[in-house]
Amino acid sequence: MQTIRQLQSLRETIAALRLQAGGESSVRIALVPTMGALHAGHIALIEAAKRVADIVVASIFVNPRQFAPNEDLGRYPRREVQDSRMLAEAGCAILWMPGVEEIYPAGFATTITVAGVSDGLDGAARPGHFDGVATVVTKLFNQVRPDVALFGEKDFQQLAVIRRLVADLDLAIEIVGVPTQREDDGLALSSRNIYLAPEDRARAIALPRALGEAVRVIGKGGDPAGALAVAKDALIAGGFDTVDYVALVDAETLEPSPDAMRPRRLLAAATIAGTRLIDNVAVAPTEG
Ligand code: AMP
Repeated sequence: MQTIRQLQSLRETIAALRLQAGGESSVRIALVPTMGALHAGHIALIEAAKRVADIVVASIFVNPRQFAPNEDLGRYPRREVQDSRMLAEAGCAILWMPGVEEIYPAGFATTITVAGVSDGLDGAARPGHFDGVATVVTKLFNQVRPDVALFGEKDFQQLAVIRRLVADLDLAIEIVGVPTQREDDGLALSSRNIYLAPEDRARAIALPRALGEAVRVIGKGGDPAGALAVAKDALIAGGFDTVDYVALVDAETLEPSPDAMRPRRLLAAATIAGTRLIDNVAVAPTEG
């Protein structure tokens, strides 16, 4: 695996790989963007990337623009050596690890806003977050010029924002969503789980449990509003301090009050001992 930190070198390396393989269209390049502190969820993206592409590029960039001033940018875990070992073992060909000045040089003045799908849920709770995501992902797409890019369903709203961005800007990049990887007890893997003390980690399973129970009730035709209220109560009773939202939305537009005949998604964000966790699950459409 080659680790590259300069854009010029990234472009030359990718051009050489494409040439070696016989030209632009005879090789498929996948991009897996990450913020590092890698776990089995990220590796599942690399594995999925290997299935749909010939060459896998992973990026590690802790993007300051997607953190609000009160968030955890300063203490976000950084584990370069371990991350690059994991990526090399997983079969990643290139690790693109730009510095902040490579992504946001002096004078940088552009922001990409994906209206609508960015506005509610995490967009409401974390103002500017999805502008930061859309801006850096657009840059990563232009730097790597992948044929396909993979994102986790764990960050379901992020995936919806990227799909909208790619459709709206006619970017010739296939977007693949990868199912959420979980611990044995159901907690979604996250780089932020390491912030949790053991007793909070144990309590955190209230999140997947509350979502699972609400999906069961809604799937049987139960009242969604009641099921969401029960889920919020279960989170607080289970040890979460605050609940940003538990919401049932259309799986594509993320609009509230979704049509039950279309795919829906149940999403939640809640904070336990200062650590904000998110999770989501599919809600199948009901039969006509
Ligand atoms: P992050 O490093 O948290 O920005 O995540 C990088 C990519 O990994 C994003 O596309 C995430 O959605 C994805 N990801 C993070 N956690 C998981 C997980 N538990 N299962 C699947 N994908 C994940």
